[in-house]
Formats: sequence, structure tokens, C-alpha cells
Amino acid sequence: GNYFRPLVAGAETKVPLANGKFVTAINFDNAATTPPLHAVLQEISHFAPWYASVHRGRGYKSILTSELYERAREVVKGYVKADKSDVVIFTKNTTESINMLAYALSPGGKEQVVLSTDMEHLANDLPWRDKFTVDYVSLTRSGRLSVKDLEAKLKAYGGKVILVTVTGASNVTGYINPIAKVARLAHKYGAKILVDGAQWVPHTSVDMKPCSSPEHIDYLTFSAHKMYAPFGAGVLIGPQATFASNIPVYQGGGAVGLVSHEYIEWDDPPAKCEAGTPNMIGVLALITAIETLSKLNINDIHTYERGLIDYAIDGLRSIPGINLYSSRDGSEARVSLISFTMEGLHHSQIAEILSQEAGIAVRNGLFCAHPYVEKLLKLTKKEIKYYQTYDDKTIPGLVRMSFGIYNTYQEIDIFYKLLCHVARNRNYYARKYAYVLEPDRCG
Ligand code: PMP
Repeated sequence: GNYFRPLVAGAETKVPLANGKFVTAINFDNAATTPPLHAVLQEISHFAPWYASVHRGRGYKSILTSELYERAREVVKGYVKADKSDVVIFTKNTTESINMLAYALSPGGKEQVVLSTDMEHLANDLPWRDKFTVDYVSLTRSGRLSVKDLEAKLKAYGGKVILVTVTGASNVTGYINPIAKVARLAHKYGAKILVDGAQWVPHTSVDMKPCSSPEHIDYLTFSAHKMYAPFGAGVLIGPQATFASNIPVYQGGGAVGLVSHEYIEWDDPPAKCEAGTPNMIGVLALITAIETLSKLNINDIHTYERGLIDYAIDGLRSIPGINLYSSRDGSEARVSLISFTMEGLHHSQIAEILSQEAGIAVRNGLFCAHPYVEKLLKLTKKEIKYYQTYDDKTIPGLVRMSFGIYNTYQEIDIFYKLLCHVARNRNYYARKYAYVLEPDRCG
């Protein structure tokens, strides 16, 4: 059995199939979001009667809540080994964290270059575009980050690059990027590094390293809902100095000292960056998840999930007509997700078949990483333009399966058996699920 499985709520939920029968749901969509840990739910219900405002009063409950909120920053810092000089800003998710950082760094304007990469989630691409000159580090033929191109670009921009922003692990291929190497290079050329940890922090041990190290991660972001704490908290970590000098993007109570009509006295970061009543419940959920994952040992979790993904990839490789969009050579660093397509069936049909025939939830489409998937699928500019212009349900994309701690080898066997059956009877399934691709009829 899987020791982790009973720790997660909803692992045994029954869902209906196309034939009206109910089966235990199989959730292979953990890269999108994860169910809560029982420990998280319990902690929230224990704490709820003590919930009060943060930093707003001298009431007993308010003081208790405030202390817990401030302790949470230390828990987060400890988990990713942030530098002493770093602050933890609580946000609502990775997207908000990266937007906040882009805003904080933006006064430099288009004179400054931000190097993003061709494998980013849109959250780590769009926020930079309107504020900086953005360029993208290209990929190797296998879809990995080209460290060679990173160095070439850093050299070519001659000191204008203020930030290299890169995902810790891809939400499309599962590749873990060589962050220590990227950090060394960024620092060598006078840039800082931001790591989008949304897919990285929940699955592997992360060490931001001290400021004095050339491999130090300057900024890190991640989302609680991808690590078994789905109550709307996110994290942005970085040096206090980054947020000290600028006017914050959100302004209001809780971010200031004394205000008059003539003058605003801004608080120090992180308070300055958290105007309004914070999401205490989300933050409590996050630190409870962190404490639970730490006790379980994140390295053991990584090893278990690695076993699952290797097993799934071996299965997928043996099915005729399956294309895989990342390779597995045993030694490469990766998290527990894989994307694929099957010849003769559209990605949305495959997702529908898995759901309707076996209660298996996967993600399909472009996974908010459009440029990366466009590259992996080798889409032409003309094709991209067509789909930008017409609302056509045949838009290309991939199917992604992604595992969490509670998934099992038996679940993968169910998935594998069904997919083998589909591969052998492609025409039958294409006809049965043709409706998925039909245009919506109005009126
Ligand atoms: N970056 C990556 C790599 C992701 O996978 C995601 C979530 N799909 C995000 C950023 C955005 O996370 P959120 O939706 O929690 O803001």
C-alpha cells in the first residue's frame, strides 16, 4: 500500500462514468492543484475559533493570530533555506507573486532586460513583457533549457540583464532545470535570478542558499494549492531591499505607519507589501502542509513520485501511437509529470475518454505554457495565427498526467489498461467521442 495515501482528503471519492457506474476517482492532475491534507483541514478547524485580525488590536485572539502569522514566515524561510536578509511576502498564488515582483522591479523600465525562457508558464512571462525588454532563452532539441544560449544572451546584452527568470520544474515536461548553474551564470553577469517554484517546491527539496553563495536564489515564488493546502495562499521571497524603496502595487491599511493627507509613512517590507487583511487561513494551511511534508521527508516523497512517473513512462512507451514530450534516461532530474499525445485522437478526446471510461482526471491543452507547447508541437506561425483567429475546438495541445503523494501504481495500471484498449480500438473511440470536437451549437 501507499503510506501517504490516507493522509490526503478525498482520495477515495466516487465519481460517475459514461455508463452510469461509479468508480473511485483517479486524480492525475496534481500539477494543476492538489487536494488538502487531512492535517491541513484539522489544523484549520482547530484554529478557526481563535481566528482574529492580524496586527490590528490588543485582543487576546488578535495577538495569537498575529504571532502565528509572523511565525509562518519563519516556517516558510526555513523550508526553502532562505537567507537571513530575505523577507517572505504572502500573496494569493505564484501569479500574483511574480506580478508583484515585476512591479517592484519595474521603475528601471525598458532599458533593462529580463531574460525569461521558452519553457515558462505564462505567469513567468506575461508580467515582464510590458515593463522590461524581455528575451527568451531557447531550448535544446529535447526541449530542455539551453544553458549555452543563456550564457550567450547574458554576454550579448553586456550587463543590461537585471534578472534571469526561470521555472524550477516545467509544468509541461516535468524537467527540473539546473538552477545552481543558472544562478551562477546570472550572478557572473551581474543579474539576479527568480525561480518559479510552483512545480518545484512541492516535489523536491529546495535550498535557496545564502546570499554569499554564487548559487544563491535571489527570488522564489510558489503556491500553497499545489502542495496540499488549497486555501488561496502564495509566497514571494526576496531581499527586503527590493521592496523597501518602491511604492507597493497594493496600497491601504496594514502597509503603513502614520498617514496624513500630505504624507504616507510606509511600513517596512513585508508588511508594506501586504495591504489589507491577509489570508491567515491560507497561510496556516500552507505551513501545516510544509510541516507535514517535512515530517514525511520531501526526499522520500520525491523518490516515491519518481518511481510512479518512471513506471508510467515505461507503460506509455510500450503503447503504439503514443508520442511523449519529454524523455526519460533515468539520471535526469524531473518531477512527477509527463505530457503525451496519441495519434488519431485529439488531446481533448483522450482526456474525455479517461474521465468517462475510468474516472481518471488529467489535464489537456496548452497548460498556460503556450509558447513552450507550440515549440514542442512544432506549430508554424500560420497555424498559431489560425487558432488565434478562429474559435476551433481542434486546437492542438497535449495530455498531461501528474502525480501527487497519494497516487498508486495500481491507478497507473488502470490508466495503462484503458489506454492500451483505446490504442487498439482508436476508430471506435474517435466516433464515440467525436462530440468533444464539434462546434458549440447555439439557439
Ligand atoms: N508556474 C508554473 C510552472 C505553474 O505550473 C503554475 C500553475 N499552473 C503557475 C506558475 C501559476 O500558479 P498559480 O496559478 O498558483 O498562480
